Amino acid sequence: MLLAQEPVDLEMAGRIRQEAFHHSQVMDILGHLTEDIGPRLTNSPQMAQANAWTREKFQGWGLAKVHDEAFDDFGRGWEFSTASVEMLAPRTAPLYALPKAWTPSTNGPVEGEAMRVSIKSRKDLEQYRGKLKDKILLLDDARVYKPGTEADWQRYDEAGLAGLQGFALPKDAKRDRAAILKRYAERQALARATNEFFVAEGVLATIGISGWDNGILRVGGGGSRRAGESAGVPELAMMAEHYNPLVRALERKETVKLRVDVKARFTDDSNQPGHNTIAEIPGSGGKANEVVMLGAHMDSWHTGTGASDNGAGVAVMMEAMRILNAVGAKPKRTIRVALWSGEEQGLIGSRAYVAKHFAAYPEPTDPAQKALPAFLREPAGALQKQPGYERFAAYFNMDNGSGRFRGIYAQENTAAMPIFRAWLEPFHDVGATTVTSRNTGSTDHVSFDAVGLPGFQFIQDRLDYFSNVHHSNLDTLDHVSADDLKQAAAIVAFFAWQAAQREEKLPRKPLAQD
Ligand SMILES: [Zn+2]
Repeated sequence: MLLAQEPVDLEMAGRIRQEAFHHSQVMDILGHLTEDIGPRLTNSPQMAQANAWTREKFQGWGLAKVHDEAFDDFGRGWEFSTASVEMLAPRTAPLYALPKAWTPSTNGPVEGEAMRVSIKSRKDLEQYRGKLKDKILLLDDARVYKPGTEADWQRYDEAGLAGLQGFALPKDAKRDRAAILKRYAERQALARATNEFFVAEGVLATIGISGWDNGILRVGGGGSRRAGESAGVPELAMMAEHYNPLVRALERKETVKLRVDVKARFTDDSNQPGHNTIAEIPGSGGKANEVVMLGAHMDSWHTGTGASDNGAGVAVMMEAMRILNAVGAKPKRTIRVALWSGEEQGLIGSRAYVAKHFAAYPEPTDPAQKALPAFLREPAGALQKQPGYERFAAYFNMDNGSGRFRGIYAQENTAAMPIFRAWLEPFHDVGATTVTSRNTGSTDHVSFDAVGLPGFQFIQDRLDYFSNVHHSNLDTLDHVSADDLKQAAAIVAFFAWQAAQREEKLPRKPLAQD
C-alpha cells in the first residue's frame, strides 16, 4: 500500500526559519518574563503581572481574542520576600535555605534549639506531644553524598535518538494506579495532621533537606493554599551540605541553636480562581471554526525565576505566534495559544480549559475520589463532549526545559507518525529528526490526551534540566540555551501552520476506556 504524500509547505517553512533564526525575539521575551517579572507561582502577584504583560504583547502583535480565562477555586496566592537561617551554636554560620510555598512567616527573627524528628505516619506524632515548644525541627536524615556518574549537561546523540524508537508494552496500569492513589491520600492526610499538630505544639519552624546535593535548593510547596486549612508553621528546605552537619551535630548530642527569619504572606484571604492567558490568529474560510492550539505553563515555582520550567516553553509559544504573525500567515484553521496556570499543582489550568471547551469526564460522587485532585481521579461515567470537541485539530506543548527539539512523542497515535515525519523534514538540519510512538507525561498535553484529543509534546535535549534546574533555585536565565529556543520556536510555528492548513484534522487514536 502506498501512503498518500503528506503535503509540506516548504515555502512557509523557509519564511518561518528566516524570521525565527534571523529576527528572533525569544530571548527578549524570556528575559522580561524571568528577570523583570521573576518567578510566577500560581495566583501570586507576579503571575498576575505575567498574565497582564503577555496579554499586552499579544495585543501589540495584533492577535485576536486576547484575554485571561479563569479556572475556579485554585486557592490563595502567596509570596515571600526574605528568608534567612543562621547557626548560633555550636558555632556561627549562615545556612542556605528557602521557604516552601504556601507556608507562613516566622514571627520576626526567632531563635530556638534544633531537634530531629521522624514522622512517617500519623501515629508517629503522638510521641512528640508536649516536647516541641519553641523548637526548630529537622525533618530528614542526613543524606550520604552520591557523586554524579553522568555529565550534568546532556544532548541526545544518534544512539540516544535511535533508542527512543522502541516501545515498551505498558505494565498493569490499574494496579499501579491504585497504589499511587492510596499513597497520595495518606500523604495528604499526614500533611494536614502534621501542620495542625506543629502549630498546636508551638513549633517555631521546620527544615527539610533539599532534594538535590551540590548546594542546589530544590523547593516545592508545603503548608496549604486552601483558605480555612492550617498553613502549618514556617517550613524551609536547606541545601544538603548545610543540613547534614546539623543532623550530625545532634547525633553527637551537641546543642544546635538556630535563628530563622522568613517573611512570607498569603495575598488573599479566600480561595481565588487561577488564570490562563489566551490569544489567537483567527482562521478564515470553511475551517475557521476548527482550532489548532499551542501551549505551555506560565506558572513556576518560587525560588528560581522559572526560566526553564517553564518560561522557556512560554517564550517559545509566544515567539511562534509572533513569527506566524510576522510572516503574514493567514491560516485556514484558527491557531490559538494558551499560557497555562496551575500546572505545577496538577495541570489544573489546562484541565479546566479542556473541560470547559472540549470534553471532561463527569465529576465523581465517591467521596474518596472527590478528595483527590482532578488529575488523579478515575473517570466516573462516559466522556461528556462540548461542541468544540469535534472541531479540535491538535495541541502542541513544550515543558521539558530549554533544550533543542529533537523530534516529537506521538503518544501512541500511530496514524499521526508519518505526518510528523513529513513535517519534521525541513528541520532535520537543525537536529529535529525523530518521531517516537512513545508517550511522555506530566504536563499539559496530558489534559488533551486524557479526553482523546491529539495533544503532543516534543522530544528535547535534556541539558541540565534534571541535574541542576528542575524546580530549583538554579532555574534561571543562565541555564537557558538561546539557540535551542530559536530552533524550537521555528518548529512550533511550522507545526501549527501545517496543522492549520492540512485538509483533514490530525487523526485521533482510540479513546482509552478503562
Ligand atoms: Zn513545567
